[in-house]
Amino acid sequence: MKKILITGGAGFIGSHLCKRLLDEGNDVICMDNYFTGDKENVLPLRVNPHFELLRHDVIQPYLAEVDEIYNLACPASPIHYQFDPIKTVNTSVMGAINALTLASKISAKVMQSSTSEVYGDPMINPQVESYWGNVNPIGVRSCYDEGKRCAETLFMDYHRQQKTRIKIIRIFNTYGPNMLPNDGRVISNFIVQALQNQDITIYGNGQQTRSFQYVTDLVEAMVRMMQTSDDMIGPINIGNPCEFTIEALAEIIIKKTKSKSKIIYKPLPMDDPKCRQPDITKAKAVLGWEPKVSLDEGLDYTIDYFRKYLMK
Ligand code: NAD
Ligand code: UDP
Repeated sequence: MKKILITGGAGFIGSHLCKRLLDEGNDVICMDNYFTGDKENVLPLRVNPHFELLRHDVIQPYLAEVDEIYNLACPASPIHYQFDPIKTVNTSVMGAINALTLASKISAKVMQSSTSEVYGDPMINPQVESYWGNVNPIGVRSCYDEGKRCAETLFMDYHRQQKTRIKIIRIFNTYGPNMLPNDGRVISNFIVQALQNQDITIYGNGQQTRSFQYVTDLVEAMVRMMQTSDDMIGPINIGNPCEFTIEALAEIIIKKTKSKSKIIYKPLPMDDPKCRQPDITKAKAVLGWEPKVSLDEGLDYTIDYFRKYLMK
């Protein structure tokens, strides 16, 4: 049995990771400040004596005797990370420093949940890990994109300077149960709108693309990456390479939910990336991993989750 700390553990991805690691028989500490996390996400886990919930903000230093740290604490939806952009930068940067300081002190492995946003509005598609990105440093998304880039820098420098045992994964758009209905991201927005027969809000002309990964595929890759040898530090792309336009996504969701919703078009937010598709050659080779859940199947699970959520 390992002792594992998950920062941001009450959020969407964190709650699935907590469950998976508990199911494997580990001791799990879930640390969260509940900015975008929800205690309901981890409620079913609280009966397990190997699960601990800790209210703490990762901006402040902390101590715990653990073998592994998964650093997920950071709002991920544009509306949430732009709500208090200074706090978002602080969460990424101070959160990284505090996780790295602890990992160095106790020789734990620490994994950074980085993002495809480090590629910004990419000039190449698909994006490979060696691409340095095309990021606006002074725009409305910069608090998240540059915060995450700085966190990657810190991870690499702690590794080079202090031999800290790091792993960096770059997560592409991920969806599934436990997303907040008002999360603001495209899949939760479209499903919640479709189930309520409200207008489906496409930003821009809907021709921008994203590649959507179901959450259990991501969690499998995270667990595999943590188990790799210390020389495998990443960064490594984790995502589903099947790329869709946002307009096509809206049509699929309307059809699946048999919704009466109409599509309406709203202004495109500043610096919205035009395309996203992960090159996962490295993940396949290093982790022996590739996504298993298609968009069709993953949407069914997620629609089912939101249908029950809205009935509650
Ligand atoms: P989420 O917003 O559901 O979860 C983030 C969690 O972190 C929440 O529980 C929130 O309360 C907590 N948190 C935020 N600031 C904190 C702070 N200062 N101290 C302690 N806890 C704090 O988002 P998610 O989709 O589950 O994302 C988890 C991680 O994965 C984030 O780091 C995000 O950047 C990264 N990521 C997610 C995606 C995606 O598509 N979901 C893509 C790329 C990267
Ligand atoms: N989007 C949209 N309607 C919505 C929410 C998002 O058209 O109600 C678009 C958004 O402009 C972007 C894409 O969907 O082009 C993905 O947005 P999301 O916030 O989910 O993720 P990110 O932009 O961070 O990849």
